[in-house]
Amino acid sequence: EAYLQAIERANPVLNAYVTVTGDKARDMAKASDAKLARGEGGALEGIPLGIKDLFGTKGVHTQACSHVLDGFEPRYESTVTANLWADGAVMLGKLNMDEFAMGSSNETSYYGPVINPWRRSRLDTVVMPTTHQGDGGFVSAGGAKTQRTLDNAQLVPGGSSGGSASAVSAFLCAGATATDTGGSIRQPAAFTGTVGIKPTYGRCSRWGIVAFASSLDQAGPIARDVRDAAILLKSMASVDPRDTTSVDRPVPDYEAAIGKPIKGMKVGIPKEYRVDGMPQDIEALWQKGIAWLKEAGAEIVDISLPHTKYALPAYYIVAPAEASSNLARYDGVRYGLRVPGKDIVDMYEKTRAAGFGREVKRRIMIGTYVLSAGYYDAYYLQAQKVRTLIKRDFENVFAAGVDVILTPATPSAAFGVADEDMASDPVKMYLNDIFTVTVNMAGLPGISVPAGLDAKGLPLGLQLIGRPFDEETLFQTAHVIE
Ligand code: GLN
Repeated sequence: EAYLQAIERANPVLNAYVTVTGDKARDMAKASDAKLARGEGGALEGIPLGIKDLFGTKGVHTQACSHVLDGFEPRYESTVTANLWADGAVMLGKLNMDEFAMGSSNETSYYGPVINPWRRSRLDTVVMPTTHQGDGGFVSAGGAKTQRTLDNAQLVPGGSSGGSASAVSAFLCAGATATDTGGSIRQPAAFTGTVGIKPTYGRCSRWGIVAFASSLDQAGPIARDVRDAAILLKSMASVDPRDTTSVDRPVPDYEAAIGKPIKGMKVGIPKEYRVDGMPQDIEALWQKGIAWLKEAGAEIVDISLPHTKYALPAYYIVAPAEASSNLARYDGVRYGLRVPGKDIVDMYEKTRAAGFGREVKRRIMIGTYVLSAGYYDAYYLQAQKVRTLIKRDFENVFAAGVDVILTPATPSAAFGVADEDMASDPVKMYLNDIFTVTVNMAGLPGISVPAGLDAKGLPLGLQLIGRPFDEETLFQTAHVIE
């Protein structure tokens, strides 16, 4: 009840939830109470969680915050959320996100931007006329158009899991599910002072999660601290015969790693992450992180990941390529929106024209282009080769005895809603992913942990990158930083 009341109060401003499942939450909570009274119950019994709208939830509206999935109610439950419910968790509702998880600011959602609970200290309110994809307003979860007023103290929560990060940060749930294809768990966690972990590719089943770029997508939690993240990931992770890329390895007790000393651990500092124009605040944070780990007995070593600079361009070929293929299914026949046309092709075209937002269309065009016969070798094939080189960079470093790599999580703190620079140039928005995409390209686990504030008092995160399936070392090391 406390969480539902908090949502009712704060959501009109934060816009973190697109669906609130109050009745369901009460029923699930009652069932948990009964279990606990009998001395039974799972690891998450009665814990209220928010679920990113990318996860298919049986009988509960699931739209990936896209117009094209209007009204879609899956008849299945994603494996990750099924695992959480089996452990007793309670569903509060579905969380806002960038449309189909494409974005770094949670401004591409059909339901309008999510607001970061952290604000600039300047409180002089200005009314900015805002439009969403030219339609002059936002659509609320109930379907009604609303005009939203933004003020210049408002910041984005990052994306694409902006609803998850904002809700956790503002106490609108005890923890949340999220997904990360190029940074969508770690960047919003960094922007909101929360903890986010993208586990190793294959650790969580992707079954029942709306696909963006299948070879990069992974689910993970956003939580208030490292221990909560460890407990949630333990429940979310599993091998699943319905996702053949999920891996059959026992899920360790991640919580047990917390508090273990890191004395003698080898921490790598990659020189290529010291990018041009890195703000002083970020550099200072990184140095602070290094000093903390050293103080705790870790050995700090300089390392090189020479192909880092190609990661972002290669990602923005691979991810749109896979997305253009995955999004082919939204044709007005099988799911959601249908705009009638004079024949079936006309119907497809009208449905897709009306159903997808600008960023999604941009990705479909890029993806279709790089996969086309004349350009496949020059772009897609080349990007796949680069991906292998990036993976090898990490393998070499880990083979040389490095246990974990420390980098900043993002190149800046949270920026303003409707930031003109970002809005005018999509590449500026893509640069947000500069420290996070390498991890997805290599399939490695990465965690973002709050580590301090910038000069304006906004939260900043540090990222730890680990060996495949060594999430334990990430939790253990992140706990020293938090
Ligand atoms: N910002 C990146 C993109 O837009 C990453 C998104 C994600 O991780 N889902 O592709």
